[in-house]
Amino acid sequence: MTQITPQSGIMEIELYQSGASKIEGVEQVVKLSSNENPFGASEAAIEAFRRASYDLHRYPSTDHAALRGAIGEVHGLDPERIICGVGSDEVIHFLCQCYAGAGDEVIHTEHGFSMYRISALAAGATPVEVPERERVVDVDAILAGCTARTRLVFIANPANPTGTMLSEAELTRLADGVPAHAILVIDSAYAEYAQDYDGGAALASARPNVVMTRTFSKLYGLGGLRVGWGYGPREIIDVLNRIRGPFNLSQPALVTAEAAVRDRAYAEKCRAENARLRGWLAKALDDVGVASDASSANFILARFRDAAQAEACNAHLNAQGLIVRATKGYKLPHCLRITIGDEASCRRVAHAVGQFMETQS
Ligand SMILES: *Cc1c(COP(=O)(O)O)cnc(C)c1O
Repeated sequence: MTQITPQSGIMEIELYQSGASKIEGVEQVVKLSSNENPFGASEAAIEAFRRASYDLHRYPSTDHAALRGAIGEVHGLDPERIICGVGSDEVIHFLCQCYAGAGDEVIHTEHGFSMYRISALAAGATPVEVPERERVVDVDAILAGCTARTRLVFIANPANPTGTMLSEAELTRLADGVPAHAILVIDSAYAEYAQDYDGGAALASARPNVVMTRTFSKLYGLGGLRVGWGYGPREIIDVLNRIRGPFNLSQPALVTAEAAVRDRAYAEKCRAENARLRGWLAKALDDVGVASDASSANFILARFRDAAQAEACNAHLNAQGLIVRATKGYKLPHCLRITIGDEASCRRVAHAVGQFMETQS
């Protein structure tokens, strides 16, 4: 028997399941399984990336000052209170590593994003799941779940995979109720797609125990580059920076993200197109008997009669070269999460779901 064993908690981690991108035997697939921007990154971002290729021999900036400055300008935030990570996943990881260890509890919700549990376990902490109410984060259930051992509370707003979100009043009530010894993390990966929403920035500005995380992977179309950021109290950001690798982000990633966040016209175009097609697809699905909750993100969670029907529809979509996301792992076996693609993809998926529903009685 080997005496080499991992830290406790590590073997409880189930590997993250990413959205599929291939179907056996199908050449041309439409990938609607990872909430990617169907229009790609902005031309300005791509040009910045191309230019950066001439400086690959140089080490990157360690303090990310230029990118933090650009984010601060665009969002009206203090750059000193921003930390950049290899995706917002890394910021989530930093939070767990710095604030939760053995014996500590990390709250996530019933259908919450799987990285919260993974990062909590990686830190040796105990993930605690609290119920949602009809696929919406339940503030009362979270507050009831808080104990003297709670160190972190993670919610995504808008949430993934449900697409639902809490109102500003509910979010404030949650921030008010989370104990002072715990940090509320508002994961705003999809904030840009929601209407009149600051992503929790005002709460993170005003409270000593609220942190907001954001990403370049969704609206900005840079999922392949891996850039995210967090914003919160100066003291917390200073703590996170202690465990951040000095060169965690490559220079191409830094300059490309900076160009992306400065291209407001492109961001607005992508936001508007998503809102238009999201409304169209929700209605098209509803017309064929497939319900969904109002989504504030770049995907729709389509609900079927039961798990068997969802699975059969998924198989039908696959046969048509369409890849969506099964949500069994998120305790939603009767649902499929469909990313809002371009107009042609939305039409194709609506048509295929319609075809499938005709075979159901
Ligand atoms: C996609 C997503 C993220 C972003 O992850 P990155 O590491 O920034 O790519 C974070 N939270 C949720 C809920 C997401 O769906």
